[in-house]
Amino acid sequence: MQLAGPINMMKSSLAGGEARYSLSVGNETVDMNALVGKHIELTFSQRITCSNCGNRTNKSFSQGYCFPCARSLARCDMCIMKPETCHHHLGTCREPEWGLANCFSSHVVYLANSSGIKVGITRKTNTPGRWIDQGAVSALPILEVKTRLDSGKIEIALKSYVADKTNWRTMLKNEVEDVDLELKRNELLAEIPSLIHELQAIPIKDETINISYPVLKYPTKIVSLNFDKTPSISGVLQGIKGQYLLLDGGVLNLRKFSSYHLALDS
Ligand SMILES: [Zn+2]
Repeated sequence: MQLAGPINMMKSSLAGGEARYSLSVGNETVDMNALVGKHIELTFSQRITCSNCGNRTNKSFSQGYCFPCARSLARCDMCIMKPETCHHHLGTCREPEWGLANCFSSHVVYLANSSGIKVGITRKTNTPGRWIDQGAVSALPILEVKTRLDSGKIEIALKSYVADKTNWRTMLKNEVEDVDLELKRNELLAEIPSLIHELQAIPIKDETINISYPVLKYPTKIVSLNFDKTPSISGVLQGIKGQYLLLDGGVLNLRKFSSYHLALDS
């Protein structure tokens, strides 16, 4: 089978506790779980087209955009990475309507174990995909708030107690120790009662969600593959975790290559 066209980050979902991945290549969608254990080849055709305007670009900015779009879209603004810096109320949002639709909606603050415990935030509708994209082996939503800004304020407060970043090498090697997320939730919520009250955040009393990944063998040493250096990448697909393909010759972060035109042979 050969498919060709621009790719996007893999779409992920959870079925029976296992992460399921699909990749769109041009107009086709590939069930990536079905390729685990098989030899695949991905070839970059030296063409990148912006996932917003469709214009050709020599380099991908903000994971899939041309330079002008990366400068003008609200979704590429720094406040998306640092939600506590939301500046919508100042009238300076790059796209105020987009901001209203996307940032002024229910967000959840969650704990996840990807390379150890971490705190994160996401739109309520983005779970569990967000956790799978980070390669979390378990996750627990802990608070619901009305806006992205509020979720950022809580995340900042909780950063004094837990990490907010994933060590991707540790995540990919699966060197992850068990953490009792529910116990940690109770401890953390007890640290910030006044902020919870001030923001009218709603505690979520869910149980921990465990996530397994379609992986035959985890890498013991991480070699990072890159289409900019190696246009043709092939090998046996040993597994998928986060947005990474684990090939026998190295790991490939597909998210980084959103909007690249690739041919996939399998
Ligand atoms: Zn563009």
